[in-house]
Amino acid sequence: MGSSVDARRLLEAVWSDYAQDPAFNSLRSWMDPEVGTVRFVPGEGSMRPWVTFIGEAPGADEDRMGRPFVGQSGQLIRSLIAEELKLDPADCWITNVVKYRPLNNATPNIRDQINSWPYLRRELECLAPRAKVVVPLGAVAWSVFDPSMSISSVEGTMRMGKNGWLIVPMFHPSFIGRNPKQRLPQYRKRFAVIREAIDTPE
Ligand code: URA
Repeated sequence: MGSSVDARRLLEAVWSDYAQDPAFNSLRSWMDPEVGTVRFVPGEGSMRPWVTFIGEAPGADEDRMGRPFVGQSGQLIRSLIAEELKLDPADCWITNVVKYRPLNNATPNIRDQINSWPYLRRELECLAPRAKVVVPLGAVAWSVFDPSMSISSVEGTMRMGKNGWLIVPMFHPSFIGRNPKQRLPQYRKRFAVIREAIDTPE
């Protein structure tokens, strides 16, 4: 990838293809006869990210604002990026496996995930990362990488993925937000693993 401007242009083309994909349209009508209510929420941040964070799917706040991770979970993860990694979240790439809020805020089903995967893969290919570090947040995002292992057995570890990416799976911030007193201190410490991955030479 030549520059982040090229990368941005490419991603916009990929996004536009995705939004017009007939497979996606049939999924929408299958999910919800009132097709027009589904809103796309694209990834955001730097096309030359230090870290790429992948969540599950937009929630109500994200659906309203058309941006990923802007609700409570988003505030938590964005503040930890700043406090623990000393990075501006705008210098990361923040996205979701599924690009629209599932009906009734349900966990995205396998059909949502399968339909979203080609876009997510191309999205990752468009990035020109400063560090090839990807952080799947929670079970749904982790299952994209390896559905055979549970998120609790791998969270906070670092592993080599395809094409030279280092993968650091973490619990979803909503899980931490449900019991911050007990879970947040350990979660904070896990960010040292992300830092180590950033600092690992390619
Ligand atoms: N939870 C997610 O997984 N993604 C968001 O964008 C917001 C909440």
